[in-house]
Amino acid sequence: MPLLKIETLGSDVLRRRAGEMEVPAQDAELDQLIRDMFETMYDARGIGLAAPQIGLSKRLIVVDVGDESGKEMGPFALFNPRVVESSADTEKQEEGCLSIPGVTGAVERPYSVTVEGVDRQGNPVRIEADAMLARCLQHEIDHLDGILFIDRMSPLKRNMVLRKYRKQAAS
Ligand SMILES: [Zn+2]
Repeated sequence: MPLLKIETLGSDVLRRRAGEMEVPAQDAELDQLIRDMFETMYDARGIGLAAPQIGLSKRLIVVDVGDESGKEMGPFALFNPRVVESSADTEKQEEGCLSIPGVTGAVERPYSVTVEGVDRQGNPVRIEADAMLARCLQHEIDHLDGILFIDRMSPLKRNMVLRKYRKQAAS
């Protein structure tokens, strides 16, 4: 199975609002796409990947936060996910992004979220997540709206991260 090319900062597809997806019961190409997205994510040592990151402007994410979910949730793909509830409680934690490789920065986000979407079988799914899983879901869903984690930092911090990123990319 081929690894997919991960789009990086500067690529237009990362800034577009991705389109809603149909979830056909049988679609070998879609199954292959999901397998390739997982493989690409694991290869890059990520815990989440959104379709725009592999150049596909569609509302699909794959997530595997391992033991960090606290819910014993295995790897999952989610179509048309959206955050339907967010806690007033927030938490600031370091984040990175496979599309801005090599740099991290602290981002403040709601600590808990409820996310709804559709699974590969076409069934509606509702996930109540907190901590790492909540953060990962919010980060990946942001990708579907053309938002990157650096957009959620203060301009000062964002510039620091971008300077570091460009310096490293140039070397
Ligand atoms: Zn990302």
